[in-house]
Amino acid sequence: MRAGLRSHDRRGVGRPQNGDTRLCAKCGTATCEFNDHYRFEGHIVPAWICDAPQCRFREVVRRSGTSAVEDSRKALRDSREVRAQARRRMMKSSARNERTRSRVAKAARTPK
Ligand SMILES: [Zn+2]
Repeated sequence: MRAGLRSHDRRGVGRPQNGDTRLCAKCGTATCEFNDHYRFEGHIVPAWICDAPQCRFREVVRRSGTSAVEDSRKALRDSREVRAQARRRMMKSSARNERTRSRVAKAARTPK
């Protein structure tokens, strides 16, 4: 589970942070720097941008067309699904427990 550590930060662990650098995927010589407030076509998006002026490679991290609100709605839906799955698993496991318990009780009652 991801909870804890950075619980105030809704971003997943392992996501890049401002100022992170990596080798450019396009030119391979310069470094790309990450910025989570890159202005791109009128939207502010997290992106990697190449330092080399002749390259200017950029990779938008968030899928285009989704806003932070949509992302958080999706996270909410996903978390409800996780809860529902956990509840189903709990019900199955307590039913299995009950079956085992009655089987043991029946075996104890059966004369040898
Ligand atoms: Zn580059």
